[in-house]
Amino acid sequence: MKRTTGQDRAVTRNWRPATRAVRGGTWRSEHGETSEALFVTSGYTYPDAETVAARFAGDAEGMTYSRLQNPTVAMLEERIALMEGAEACRAQATGMAAMTTALLCQLSAGDHVVAARAAFGSCRWLVDSLFPRFGITSTTIDARDNAAWEGAVRPNTKVFFFETPANPTMDVVDLGFVCGLARSRGITTVVDNAFATAALQRPMEFGADVVAYSATKLMDGQGRVLAGAVCGSEAFINDVLLPFQRNTGPNLSPFNAWVVLKGLETLPLRVAQHNANALKVGAFLEGRVPRMLHPGLASHPRHALAMKQMDGPGAIFAFEVAGREQAFALLDALELIDISNNIGDARSLMCHSASSTHAGLSAEARAEMGVTEGLLRINVGLEDADDLIEDLDRALIRAGL
Ligand SMILES: *Cc1c(COP(=O)(O)O)cnc(C)c1O
Repeated sequence: MKRTTGQDRAVTRNWRPATRAVRGGTWRSEHGETSEALFVTSGYTYPDAETVAARFAGDAEGMTYSRLQNPTVAMLEERIALMEGAEACRAQATGMAAMTTALLCQLSAGDHVVAARAAFGSCRWLVDSLFPRFGITSTTIDARDNAAWEGAVRPNTKVFFFETPANPTMDVVDLGFVCGLARSRGITTVVDNAFATAALQRPMEFGADVVAYSATKLMDGQGRVLAGAVCGSEAFINDVLLPFQRNTGPNLSPFNAWVVLKGLETLPLRVAQHNANALKVGAFLEGRVPRMLHPGLASHPRHALAMKQMDGPGAIFAFEVAGREQAFALLDALELIDISNNIGDARSLMCHSASSTHAGLSAEARAEMGVTEGLLRINVGLEDADDLIEDLDRALIRAGL
């Protein structure tokens, strides 16, 4: 196995995004395969006993065991790091494995975390239900409020944790401000960048320390596999994250890594079309529903900030109808758009957050986050936007909205 493209960092650093997505981290075997090889192996053999000792001592390059390294997974990690502009990346089994690893690898009993209250349901569960069992305290805040971040910092605050745009309310966090504040206080920022991906937003350009992904979403892009990744500095990945990961084992399977590698090749292309479709569908819905939450539309309270931080609005937005009854009626009247709680798929998918992704939270927590009974989230896919608009138009009429 040889790195055939991307050997010279001085060159790869200048590659433009589309080139990084297709070429980043390509290694080739002696067969010279064009498409990345899939190494479905848990173990490795050695030419002699000395080599085993040298690899385990870290004195020689080479694989030892797939919980520690795997060539297909390593290719994915190099490609994601390059696309992110990060020094290093480690792939994880799922997005939640990525969040858990990124946080627990650096937190200890007695530490304090400031987290955005609007977040993916399982991310909130980590903060609200898991951390207290290990003596980690937290403050959850309205992450749109810069003063709230400052007000929540304590002497033992170790980590800021948030996503932007946030799931499902599309809250946009001021990356430059929050990352700058963290830097000035010696706090590590962990940003969940699943909604945007590196194709639209690179939090490290704004001073973020760690970027964590559900690669299940837009990075795979076709709804096939669960996958995750954590990006950071070489020091963070090698000294803080790897000891945790290698011994707890939240690793990504080579097959899933290979699927995501293939997905990344078309990420910039797909995201550009998702952006255009989501804008067109959003503009249509804006005139038809009481409330839109779409960072690409001028009606979003942080539209200007979103467009400063992001290269486009992404595939996902939310909107409100009067209540649960109207939301369910609209979902049930759809012909083309599927009812599904997944996102980042080429297919358009819609779900009622309060009864699905955020059903595990208390009614108070949902209310505080803005997950109302009338809130619907849509992942605008790669179908023709006019077919999606016709489907929504017909469904709104059928549902009497
Ligand atoms: C889906 C998602 C996750 C969890 O990812 P999985 O791959 O499903 O484990 C975390 N954060 C956000 C913002 C997500 O959308």
